[in-house]
Amino acid sequence: MEIEAVMGDITQEQVDAIVNAANSSLLGGGGVDGAIHRAAGPELLAACRPLGGCSAGQAKPTPGFRLPARWVIHTVGPVWHGGGGGEAHLLASCYRRSLEVADELGVQRVAFPAISTGIYGYPKEAAARVAVSTLRETPTRVKLARLVAFSPDQLSLYQDLLTVR
Ligand code: ADP
Repeated sequence: MEIEAVMGDITQEQVDAIVNAANSSLLGGGGVDGAIHRAAGPELLAACRPLGGCSAGQAKPTPGFRLPARWVIHTVGPVWHGGGGGEAHLLASCYRRSLEVADELGVQRVAFPAISTGIYGYPKEAAARVAVSTLRETPTRVKLARLVAFSPDQLSLYQDLLTVR
């Protein structure tokens, strides 16, 4: 699988599936979750309701409705509590489970936001390391994982990690 980093708004990504950093209710929230719900339209909330929420580290798909992406893979990152509560393990699980769901959907190109690094407070560099190493280690039929940075600093974190192995 190719892994690349770009800067931009994930709701505009022309890929098969975008990953949403959702909260456990799956009923919408702030940050990237709010942006995805606004761009996808109210059908997205209606599709999330019957899913019955999602626990941290897990992932569930819906259609993308008005988004360019055909699918949204909703995953719930860990809230940062200092690192002693299994946060790294849960964050890795978000990336791994999202790829597994992408395989179930049969898709080839998936875009990821920096899960947990906004409202959930996960330190950005540590989170980027988990993202890149988990994407590198997970066996998948996905051909392209695109890490979508929402700031220049986030983009350079990814680029630094992607240029060394
Ligand atoms: P969490 O609750 O998992 O921390 P947030 O949505 O608060 O989720 O933040 C996750 C990351 O998504 C942050 O790095 C934030 O800057 C970024 N982000 C916010 N809006 C967008 C967007 N439209 N496209 C891509 N990334 C975004």
